Amino acid sequence: MRNVVVFDADETLLDLRPAVTGGLVVVLEEMRRLTPAAAGVSLADLESDWDAVFGEHAAAPVAQIRRAALARSLARAGLTAHLDELAALFFARRFALTRPFADALPALAALRREYALGYATNGNSRAERCGLAGEFTFELYAHDGGLPKKPAPEFYAAVVEAAGVPAEQIAYVGDSLAHDVVGPQRAGLRGIWLNRSGLPCPPEVRPDAELSTLAELPAVLRRMHTAKAG
Ligand SMILES: [Mg+2]
Repeated sequence: MRNVVVFDADETLLDLRPAVTGGLVVVLEEMRRLTPAAAGVSLADLESDWDAVFGEHAAAPVAQIRRAALARSLARAGLTAHLDELAALFFARRFALTRPFADALPALAALRREYALGYATNGNSRAERCGLAGEFTFELYAHDGGLPKKPAPEFYAAVVEAAGVPAEQIAYVGDSLAHDVVGPQRAGLRGIWLNRSGLPCPPEVRPDAELSTLAELPAVLRRMHTAKAG
C-alpha cells in the first residue's frame, strides 16, 4: 500500500493573492468606468469587504462569500444591479491569473514516483482551472456533496476515504496550522506545515514537520518514513 500525500490548494500549491488582487483591480476599473461615484472607492475597500463578509460567514462556500463581498463593494457606488456581470469579470480574471508557486510542479513530479497525491481544499480553486490538471489521484472540494469545510472532522474523514489507506499513512501539507496541521493530526494524519514566510509556530502546535518551500518535502517525507520504519 502506497503512502499518500495530500495538499491544500490556496497559498500552498497556488499563489492565490496576486490572482485575487488582479480580479479586484479589474472590478474596480469597471466600476469607475460605469459611474463617477466609484472614484472614491479603493482597492482597500474591496479587500475589507471580503474580510467583513468572510468574518461573518466563514463556513459558507468561497464563491458565495466573494459574491456577497462584491455586492457590498458595488453598493458603495450604487452599482448593485451590476453584480452578475462584475462577479463574472472577477472570477474570469482570478482564474486566469491563478498559477502554482514555482516550487509546486517540481515537488509534485518528484513525489509522484513514490506516493499517491491528493488535493483537498476549502476553496474554489479547481485544479484544472489553476494549472494543476491531471496532477492528483483524487481531488476534494468543501461543499461538493455537502462536505463541510476544514477543520470539520468530516472533511479529513473524506480525505482518508478518498486516499484509500489508513490515516497514519497520509501526510497533509498546507499553509494553515489550524486547517492543515492540527485538524489532520486530530484525525490521525500527519500534519506538515508549509511556512513560506517564516512565521513563529505557537508552542501548543506541533507540526510533524515544517517546510519553508515545497522543494524540501521529498527529503522530509523520506526522513519521516525512515524514522517510522526504524
Ligand atoms: Mg491554504
